[in-house]
Amino acid sequence: MPILIAMPPASLTSLLERTFGFASFRANQEAVCRAAVDGSDVLLVMPTGAGKSLCYQLPAIARGGTALVISPLIALMDDQSSKLSELGLKAERIHSGLDRERSRQVCRDYLSGALDFLFIAPERLRVPGFPEMLAKRKPALIAIDEAHCISQWGHDFRPDYRLLGSYLPALRPAPVVALTATATPIVQDDIIAQLRLDKPARFIHGFRRNNLAIEIVEVSKPKRTQLALTLLSPAERRPAIVYAPTRKEAESLAQELSQSFSTAAYHAGLEPDHRERVQREFLAGRLEAVVATIAFGMGIDKPDVRTVIHTALPASLEAYYQEIGRAGRDGKPSRTILMHSYADRRTHDFFYERDYPPVEELDLIFRKLQAQPRHREELAELLKSKLDGEIFLTALDKLMTHGGAHIDYDGNVVRGDAGWRQPYMSQSNQRMAQLDRVMRYAESSQCRMAQLVRHFGDDEDGRRACGLCDVCSPERAVGQRFRTLDEGEREVMFAVVKVLRSGGGKSTGKLHQELCARNHMSRDHFEDLLGAMSGAGFLALEDASFEKDGRSISYRKASLTRDGEEMDSDDAATVLMRDSSENTSLTAKPAKRDRKQKAAKVDVPLSAEAAALEERLRAWRREEASKLGQPAFLIFTDKTLRAIAAERPRTEEDLLAVDGIGPAKVTKFGSAVCEICAE
Ligand code: ADP
Ligand code: MG
Ligand code: ZN
Repeated sequence: MPILIAMPPASLTSLLERTFGFASFRANQEAVCRAAVDGSDVLLVMPTGAGKSLCYQLPAIARGGTALVISPLIALMDDQSSKLSELGLKAERIHSGLDRERSRQVCRDYLSGALDFLFIAPERLRVPGFPEMLAKRKPALIAIDEAHCISQWGHDFRPDYRLLGSYLPALRPAPVVALTATATPIVQDDIIAQLRLDKPARFIHGFRRNNLAIEIVEVSKPKRTQLALTLLSPAERRPAIVYAPTRKEAESLAQELSQSFSTAAYHAGLEPDHRERVQREFLAGRLEAVVATIAFGMGIDKPDVRTVIHTALPASLEAYYQEIGRAGRDGKPSRTILMHSYADRRTHDFFYERDYPPVEELDLIFRKLQAQPRHREELAELLKSKLDGEIFLTALDKLMTHGGAHIDYDGNVVRGDAGWRQPYMSQSNQRMAQLDRVMRYAESSQCRMAQLVRHFGDDEDGRRACGLCDVCSPERAVGQRFRTLDEGEREVMFAVVKVLRSGGGKSTGKLHQELCARNHMSRDHFEDLLGAMSGAGFLALEDASFEKDGRSISYRKASLTRDGEEMDSDDAATVLMRDSSENTSLTAKPAKRDRKQKAAKVDVPLSAEAAALEERLRAWRREEASKLGQPAFLIFTDKTLRAIAAERPRTEEDLLAVDGIGPAKVTKFGSAVCEICAE
């Protein structure tokens, strides 16, 4: 007969007190512990610092026997096992940092049942005989820490985690508890599939931060330095972390900010001891701001960071969430501001196109490969007419990553497995989807925090608006100004209310067609108005889709909230629109929406300096055209040439931000143009 471990709730709490010295469970910990004690597999997703370790440690003690803990880093293992030892538990670990005799002793202790916890790294499972040794005495619980490492969709994929899928079955029937701080629903599903979890209880909690006011500002690149400076000048907005997209920008922004308060740059290009000094000074409060690339903040826990700024669109929402999460760890009100514009998307697209060549280009290489080795340079030469040197190297690299080619130390390449296509395609698509997701986040007019909470899969908590972000509370925004509606907008707003009162939910495109033909309000302007109504609580906007000719077509659906049903003319004053006309000193015109205006801006007379630059660019274009045997406008149109002269880009990235310029042009002409602009 199976033994049921029926633990009354009171005894879990007393175990918590007795063993860990904690007076009570934190939110959700008890339910997780109960599921694991009862023998169910568990997937637990909670942010860093939420207290996940307790959720496998306490059930392990309640169940008795030895718990096996898989952890990716030696430092994590040492830290956790020494904490458990301090609590009087018998915890050991086996990793490459220990000598053989010690490891043997730990194995003997494990087999004799003397251990409460055994920590191992996943690569241990490769050691011949080790998995068999573990299986001789089955653990009472298996915990997989940092479980997202098993998924190639996660942002920290470790191939060794893949071993777990095939080795765990031999260690069953123990329940498996998989823990991670960062897993979107796709990654969650992948973890469950890879670990072969059995009907796991899923707990996804704690992503909401109640003291973070999130703000997103659409602002052109040249204005971001000034905006960062303005935002950080009140002393109470510091200490601050500013995330910049490149090392160069981190350096130059740090330079600017340090005119006003103590600031340093931090990026991977600096010497390790310099970086450590910056980190130490910041922790000690002697530096008020750090301008960093993504390399900053891992493992640092400074509780009083008041502001986190992103001066460019981050590459994924997961990374963004981790970074803004470094603000306000002490629970006091804090801010985060994300600056972006349509040009950011173009930058990301540029890198995407560079890093993920079309699958056909990988195919070209694959077809030239055989079992007989062929040197890399010979291959490059063979494909010269079809693949540019850089692209060839990237494509070959991707092919190797996904097993389609193998290379030896001397650069000889042989044909690999034909199954490389599908994994390459899905990785490439996944990367694109991540970019789309951040972009939609930045452009959406729904509560920022609620969107993030839903992104991590907590749909229930994700229904509640935060009340602090620039959508919920525009009057408190600091990076942009908001205004009340003008007469025309008021009229359209009440027309929307009227239509929706009689007809229920409707697509926003239809509403625009019906209501805006007469007053010529543009679709984007109309969507902004709907966003403002939703921010004020009168409208609910949701993404919906329908099937047509076998394709899924997505649209936005608007419906009235209860407040919207009862809306009257007094309420109109609480609807606020982003003010892009008055505060041009702070925010630029949104590039995507106001193409016409942007072109018009370029038509104002150029300064003498810019006019001279335009002339130089024109001369260069003439030369280039005759060299290539092409008409000049195919290189750059007159309009683009003027725009370049007006913006005077110094880097290829700046150039990409100029209207009319795409990645292909930057690749071909970028360095020449930047050189002329620097003259
Ligand atoms: P995570 O793995 O989720 O990042 P940890 O498990 O390391 O977080 O826990 C973070 C901190 O919270 C630890 O110092 C831990 O001792 C503490 N902690 C966890 N649960 C409780 C609790 N119920 N009461 C008080 N402190 C707790
Ligand atoms: Mg942890
Ligand atoms: Zn909000």
